[in-house]
Amino acid sequence: MFKILRRLVEFTGKYKTRIRTSYIFSFLKGILLNVPLILCFYAISFFMEGTMDAKKCLYIGLIMAGGLALQAVCEHISNVLQSATGYMVFADTRMRLGDHLRKLPMGYFTEGNIGKISAVLSTDMVFIEECCMGVLSELVSFMIAQGIMVVMMFVMDVRLGILSAVVVAAFVAVGNLMLKMSQKHSVVKQEAAESLTEEVLDFAEGIGIIKSFNLLGERSGKLTAEFKRSCDESINYEVAYTPFSRGLYLVYGIGTSLVLALSGILYSKGLISDVYLVGMVLFLFNIFLPIRSYYGQMARLTVTEASLDRIEEVFAAEELKDEGVKALAQNTSSDTQIEYDNVSFGYTEADVLKNVSFEIKKGTMTALVGPSGGGKSTIASLLARFWDIKEGRILVNGENIKDVSLGSLMDQISMVFQRVYLFQDTVYNNIAIARPDATKEEVIEAAKKARCYEFIMQLPEGFDTVIGEGGASLSGGEKQRISIARCILKDAPIVILDEATASVDADNERAIQEAISELCRDKTLLVIAHRLKTIKDADQILVVSGGQIIERGDHKSLMEKNGTYAHMVSLQAS
Ligand code: ADP
Repeated sequence: MFKILRRLVEFTGKYKTRIRTSYIFSFLKGILLNVPLILCFYAISFFMEGTMDAKKCLYIGLIMAGGLALQAVCEHISNVLQSATGYMVFADTRMRLGDHLRKLPMGYFTEGNIGKISAVLSTDMVFIEECCMGVLSELVSFMIAQGIMVVMMFVMDVRLGILSAVVVAAFVAVGNLMLKMSQKHSVVKQEAAESLTEEVLDFAEGIGIIKSFNLLGERSGKLTAEFKRSCDESINYEVAYTPFSRGLYLVYGIGTSLVLALSGILYSKGLISDVYLVGMVLFLFNIFLPIRSYYGQMARLTVTEASLDRIEEVFAAEELKDEGVKALAQNTSSDTQIEYDNVSFGYTEADVLKNVSFEIKKGTMTALVGPSGGGKSTIASLLARFWDIKEGRILVNGENIKDVSLGSLMDQISMVFQRVYLFQDTVYNNIAIARPDATKEEVIEAAKKARCYEFIMQLPEGFDTVIGEGGASLSGGEKQRISIARCILKDAPIVILDEATASVDADNERAIQEAISELCRDKTLLVIAHRLKTIKDADQILVVSGGQIIERGDHKSLMEKNGTYAHMVSLQAS
């Protein structure tokens, strides 16, 4: 329990002092909670002793009113301090998270973490921010109030004090079991919620493919299964948790009855006065109320632990180090623009690339070919530092890409992927994003070169047409050409091309090929090729298989060698 509180306080970072200050007010409120009870007890004893007079009555009334007013003030201050802190902490945390996500390697986003990020942002943070921060102060007040109550019982009678301490211990035993159980199940429950989010996102994103392949039944079956799993886990949580929460009520009932019984016995034996007996009967149901409320609130905090774990897990993902402060040299006297020097890399422990070495001269075209899964895309993505390599060096313009700033490296590289993402914005802005300082003429020129101009002009508002989410209102080939227009506008000296025309019709393919030719003019090219006829004229062909370069040379020399490449060419020709 203290662990969760400590973690929450630690989480508040620079606002820690505010939270701690709020504890002081909760502590005061905890003390003041018992003031009305104590005063009532005194009032009753004065009445029963026949010593109550108007003056005493007035004093008791005034002290009670003062105590209640002070209690309200303390509660208000501690609530304001905590709730406001919750919102401030999470405003900061979201900003930090955004900054952190920006610096994560691309791999993080493709490894099933999107659901986790969504759950952290939409569920975990909102839950802690809205539900937990305000609970902290209450917990402190309840603990103090229960402590005072037990001390009061000891003051009345040692035996009553011991009994109430035993009942509190029983509460702690059952309550802690309940928290453990709830904690265990809440982790599974949250995991189910997370995988449900993932499935919903996947379903929504792939709805086009799902419909076109008539997979609606199958995929919605998966989605339904996830809904069911999430529902089942929520029910399991309740089933595991409820017996213990009922158990707490039982302890409360039995404890209260025992206190009443013991008071009766003690009174009958003349061991406590009638004043104490009446006082006891009147306030019987308040004796264990604080600890019962305490565990009621604590159950909420166990979910917090799972939420905090997940938030911390996202923050723990290792960022790409962007320590290079110097900008990448734009030019180099050497004619080698890119060099892979003994590069080894693995997404996990196992190596996907082993000792890969090659050079690319300025203004030349290098094609990566080979069987699927051989490592072509991996080689290309390492150039843009989507991941960091394990061993070796990658040099651009003679400089290790780790030693230069990420920004300046990306300025040198344009990438054309098979999968294009267009923002929900105008066509113009989707192109201009590559170079925000570009003039309108330059943007239009890039669109013309990318063979986009005609179809853009046929859109309802030309360049000002807003493209639907994910570019839904354009064809695959049109989206591809807009992405090429972006790269043309960026005019980076190095172009990485993932054979982009794989999934479009013949007309689009021709237009895309023309657009690519424009993009690649005078550039250094690294092409991931699937169809060998497109790379016949490449200056260098690297055959990648099993994470190694097994053959290299130009088309002619590789054909003469009659090895893997020649075999692939003959397969594709047939
Ligand atoms: P190619 O482009 O030649 O088809 P890849 O570079 O995509 O090959 O893949 C090389 C190997 O790395 C394959 O075994 C593939 O499963 C693995 N791989 C690719 N991307 C990832 C990733 N993000 N996480 C883990 N393994 C990956």
